[in-house]
Amino acid sequence: MILWKTKVGIKELTKNNLSLSKNRKYMFKKIALVTGANKGIGYETAKQLAKEGVTVIAAARNVEKGKAAVEALKQQGLDVEFLKLDVDNETDIDAAFDYINNKYGKLDILINNAGIQLESNSWAENTSENIGEQVLRETLDTNFFSVVKLTSKLLPLIRKSNAGRIVNLSSILGSLNLHADPASPIYDSKLFAYNASKTALNAYTIHLAHALKQTGIKVNAAHPGWVKTDMGSDAAPMNVQDGAKTSVELALIDENGPNGKYLHLGQELPW
Ligand code: NDP
Repeated sequence: MILWKTKVGIKELTKNNLSLSKNRKYMFKKIALVTGANKGIGYETAKQLAKEGVTVIAAARNVEKGKAAVEALKQQGLDVEFLKLDVDNETDIDAAFDYINNKYGKLDILINNAGIQLESNSWAENTSENIGEQVLRETLDTNFFSVVKLTSKLLPLIRKSNAGRIVNLSSILGSLNLHADPASPIYDSKLFAYNASKTALNAYTIHLAHALKQTGIKVNAAHPGWVKTDMGSDAAPMNVQDGAKTSVELALIDENGPNGKYLHLGQELPW
């Protein structure tokens, strides 16, 4: 009460009301964060989500490339904004939390898309005998540890959503069942660091989905397919438009949608 009578109090109240109404504006609009959105599947996912009416925070570690990508999406009339986020950088992760918390007060969709593949360009190789420790650590850092760190940091904001969705960009190459099966199409694709990083990510997906099963939040692993990107190479059979479909589908599932599953275009994969 006394607050109303002081100049400082009025200023404080006005400030609070303003930020409340700013957050209220986004109560009915979904907010998504897509990591590694400057190119490839991440860029296309940001585009397709924005076309579905989602406000997309397109994150990239390289400011110049990230801003250029967002500019191209804005030119198409899409509601997309840029955020600098190197998923391996803890300061960037903290700043992402602060930014989203201050501006939106919640996060509806987190697409953990950023990923690296540092081993051979040939998918038909087995690197397990000679894998360098540095490559193994770097790959697991970006594809696994950073996903856990970022997701854990943002979870309080995802809990504030009515229907939080977390999509982890895995790969069919993370499937231990298929790796152990000589008849499977990936039997000879044994890039150990990359594959192990996606297997670990799959384990996280199952564990987090279990931890959150009483909430409305759904956590799934997506295999995009073998997609023509810098990582997938020109040899890949799928275009990036189709490659983004699994991420987008899983981001937009309703309350009856899957939780703790490993999916490619609606089909379940063996873990
Ligand atoms: P690209 O190599 O085309 O893009 C990878 C994206 O991740 C880039 O934006 C890259 O940024 C970003 N990135 C890498 N490291 C970091 C980091 N530390 N912080 C922030 N961003 C980072 O790959 P795709 O689009 O093909 O792959 C997207 C996801 O899909 C990956 O997780 C990949 O493992 C997975 N996937 C892809 C398949 C395919 O066939 N293409 C098949 C199965 C899974 P920068 O431009 O700065 O390097």
